Amino acid sequence: MTVENEKMGEGKKDEVGASNVTTVDISGLWGSDMYPERRGGKIQRSWFKIFVGAQGRESLDKAKCEDNVYKCIKKSPIIKLMLGALKSSGCEVDIRRHISCEVCNPMVTGGYDSDFNQIVVCQNTAVGESNVRGVLLHEMIHMFDYCRNKLDVKNIHHLACTEIRAANLGHCSFMSSLLQGDSSFVNIKATHQNCVKHKAKMSLMAATKVSSEVADAAIEKVFTKCYNDLEPIGRRIRRNSCDMPRAYAEGHLYGYDL
Ligand SMILES: [Zn+2]
Repeated sequence: MTVENEKMGEGKKDEVGASNVTTVDISGLWGSDMYPERRGGKIQRSWFKIFVGAQGRESLDKAKCEDNVYKCIKKSPIIKLMLGALKSSGCEVDIRRHISCEVCNPMVTGGYDSDFNQIVVCQNTAVGESNVRGVLLHEMIHMFDYCRNKLDVKNIHHLACTEIRAANLGHCSFMSSLLQGDSSFVNIKATHQNCVKHKAKMSLMAATKVSSEVADAAIEKVFTKCYNDLEPIGRRIRRNSCDMPRAYAEGHLYGYDL
């Protein structure tokens, strides 16, 4: 899940203090209440009326979103790398079947529905090509983990791991380059790890409704292993660097059919 508002869920109380809980009661679509168009649910929430508003806006947003998805798939080296990695893993992506632009809860920008092996791009919140690219990369990491690692979406440690990987390879890798000017290497490393932990926690809490304490415990337990697992990108991607094309160029070294 790609979370828009990083403040969400903060201040939640720990209901049970059960840090050893590993199973979460959710469907294949993590945080399914965030995606009212899924599962045939009726859209009756007040935010929907507020945020969608005028008629006709919805289909315009959808067309723009689909156009951005198409551009990312045609142009972005990192998205092409992910598509190649998915194909090599036996999970080839058909963009019409596996990527869907929909109206979502404004707190999220994207999601992955493992029941249908579909990425949801939120047409009302993931606005613009670079945001859509961020969502696609993040959700494709989940798709890859589901395909390659037999991700169990009811296991909180599996979910924590894939959110750590998605934050590490996506969102937080952009952040690390922004800090390089005024930080020592040690600081960058710590700040980067904190970024990954925070981002993963927000996604995990939004998807599973677990408390802050349960989310922290799950993330800490799997952090080192999952933080160091850089497949299929091989290196963290930094903004304004050559890493994106380089990772793409090196794809063949990992055995990906680009
Ligand atoms: Zn996620």
